[in-house]
Amino acid sequence: MTIAVSPQALPALVLNADYRPLSYYPLSLWSWQDAIKAVFLDRVNIIAEYDQAVSSPSFSMRLPSVVCLKTYIKPSRNPAFTRFNVFLRDRFQCQYCGTRDELTFDHVIPRCRGGQTTWENVVAACSPCNLKKGSRLPKQAGMIPHQKPLQPTVQDLHNNGRLFPPNYLHESWLDYLYWDSELEP
Ligand SMILES: [Zn+2]
Repeated sequence: MTIAVSPQALPALVLNADYRPLSYYPLSLWSWQDAIKAVFLDRVNIIAEYDQAVSSPSFSMRLPSVVCLKTYIKPSRNPAFTRFNVFLRDRFQCQYCGTRDELTFDHVIPRCRGGQTTWENVVAACSPCNLKKGSRLPKQAGMIPHQKPLQPTVQDLHNNGRLFPPNYLHESWLDYLYWDSELEP
């Protein structure tokens, strides 16, 4: 096959059978190769396409930009514990002073005191607050996180994610990203 335009940057947004993204964080994206494979395996319907096509002498096909699973997959309720998702839960703000600059991760109960790396013990903290708190307990340091750190739901992250739209979204994805029932009249 020859590709007219470098397709690395042309992933397909993957929707569940209910037309919602299969996952938001991270956003469910497939490479164009995986998307086309799924089309030929009859696992997805093509909802929207890019202008760019793949072609061979006997075959040509526009690359899918949005595909939809034919079979509904029950989405996982618990978002993955990732650095990005911790920042997103904390709205990219230091949980001690509120700044958005120089964000790092703070173990509320320091690791050297047995604190674990979990949703309940890791918060976004700016580098100065992190240094200031050091290896002290929150009460010793007089530094208590603004929000008690908890495992968020997918919906929590989704709500926060609306505040921080990704830098680049293909226009054909937009109809599927920011819709949900609370926006319905
Ligand atoms: Zn701070």
